[in-house]
Amino acid sequence: MIILLYSSNILYLHIFIIMYNSIEQIKVFYPLQTWEDNQILREKSEVVDIFDDEIKEFAEILLDLMYAYDWVGLAAPQVWKNIRVIATTQRKETNKWNKKSRKIIWETAMINPEILEHSEEKKKWEEACLSVPWLCGDVERWTWIVLKYQDKKWKFHVQKYTWFSAVVIQHEMDHLEWILFTDKVIWKIRKIDDKSEY
Ligand SMILES: [Zn+2]
Repeated sequence: MIILLYSSNILYLHIFIIMYNSIEQIKVFYPLQTWEDNQILREKSEVVDIFDDEIKEFAEILLDLMYAYDWVGLAAPQVWKNIRVIATTQRKETNKWNKKSRKIIWETAMINPEILEHSEEKKKWEEACLSVPWLCGDVERWTWIVLKYQDKKWKFHVQKYTWFSAVVIQHEMDHLEWILFTDKVIWKIRKIDDKSEY
């Protein structure tokens, strides 16, 4: 029994090492782009018009990287690829964050996202970004959007998103237009840790 337990632990350890290595290799191959003067983050992303296995694989990789960085959204330019693909997190309970709401979270890779309609009202959200480390700031976003996008199987979707989900999508879509949240901050850019002025 002891031998069996030991063996299975070693097996899990090996699986963990293989998985860890592969995501670390992906991170090297798709390096995270940071800071406001980065050229890649300041180039407009191109529409995906050829749907092949490479794009499908990239959509998966973008989702994997989003999990690996433990973030709620990621856009292709942030990992050195100027094409219109974003990875986003949505959740059903959109106006609060708690353990219960974590259970109904799901993630989607969106290709060629396009906002068809949006609310008139905007709401202020505190945002941060993997590409602008250690900083945060208040940005005004539409409270709902109707979005058209294609999934990794090239299928078209038209769907309404509200609150948190809508904000994440708007933030990630800004990356495709070379916009960072720091360009839109309505008051002060602050340091995440101590909230002091940047
Ligand atoms: Zn961002």
